[in-house]
Amino acid sequence: MLTLLKLLKDGRFHSGQALGAALGISRSAVWKQLQHLEAELGLSIHRVRGRGYQLAAPLTLLDPAQIDDKSSARSWPVQVFDSIDSTNAEALRAIERGLAAPFLVLAERQTAGRGRRGRKWVSPFAENLYYSLVLRIEGGMRQLEGLSLVVGLAVMRALREQGVAGVGLKWPNDLLVGQKKIAGILLELVGDPADVCHVVLGVGINVNMQAADEVDQQWTSMRLESGRVFDRNHLVVELGLVLQDYLSRHQCDGFSAIHAEWEQNHLWQGRAVSLIAGVNQIDGVVVGIDSRGALRLKVDGVEKIFSGGELSLRLRDDS
Ligand code: ATP
Repeated sequence: MLTLLKLLKDGRFHSGQALGAALGISRSAVWKQLQHLEAELGLSIHRVRGRGYQLAAPLTLLDPAQIDDKSSARSWPVQVFDSIDSTNAEALRAIERGLAAPFLVLAERQTAGRGRRGRKWVSPFAENLYYSLVLRIEGGMRQLEGLSLVVGLAVMRALREQGVAGVGLKWPNDLLVGQKKIAGILLELVGDPADVCHVVLGVGINVNMQAADEVDQQWTSMRLESGRVFDRNHLVVELGLVLQDYLSRHQCDGFSAIHAEWEQNHLWQGRAVSLIAGVNQIDGVVVGIDSRGALRLKVDGVEKIFSGGELSLRLRDDS
């Protein structure tokens, strides 16, 4: 099915006969596959009698050759999937199989993209970036401190370098423009964090997405913010360069070296928020983060520190 899509991706007309000949299948089999493409991937395909089939808009697919070629000498080996349950899940399976880190897993779509605590990351075909970088960590806990915040900061820089204005951070793992979510980070860990472990740095960025009924909170994309279409291959390369820079700073100097920069870009600094932990809710005002990336909240006039993967921050109406 995707071979057929690759023949159509230029956005020009292709006759059923030519497509069938290229694939060694009948014209009616071509027609059936096109129906599947529309239904499965949400693509829109025009049919015009006498001319054939045409994608409503040309597609640029992820291309490992472009990603490898343009990267620096230190680039990571990359695997690109047309469709996968989740790039983080595939990265974890690859670690299990013994694939040597670092490496990068990308996909055109995710059928079960992951958010935190079992939530779903909506991941339509060929529109966004679904990106999981695997690192082997030997330095113990210090190498993990604040790591997801560092990744968020790197993604923010990459988006700003691409010309997306107004992107900022929301503790612990979201990137927002105003109140709208444009990207999310999900770190997953295997092994012994105190000794040798692997960490999967999962990044989802809304790149060219213009509609997504299933997302149940305010969201935006690079395209919606800037009015232009982005080349995802180029974005992968640029994101890789910024990430390498931040990860090496974090590795050498620890999170404390990045702490101030993160706070400067925290959209909810000084805001009145509610911190949700399961059924409990704590109201306070955001003071900032500490040198390990934990949240500092002023609660009833007293500063308290919160960390852990089960916490969610929400703005209070009076903030
Ligand atoms: P938290 O503050 O706990 O991080 P969250 O709602 O942002 O809360 P995440 O686990 O970070 O939760 O992200 C998953 C949520 O993000 C989903 O429940 C959905 O509301 C939203 N979401 C899913 N797909 C997308 C997407 N492509 N773009 C923006 N938001 C999305």
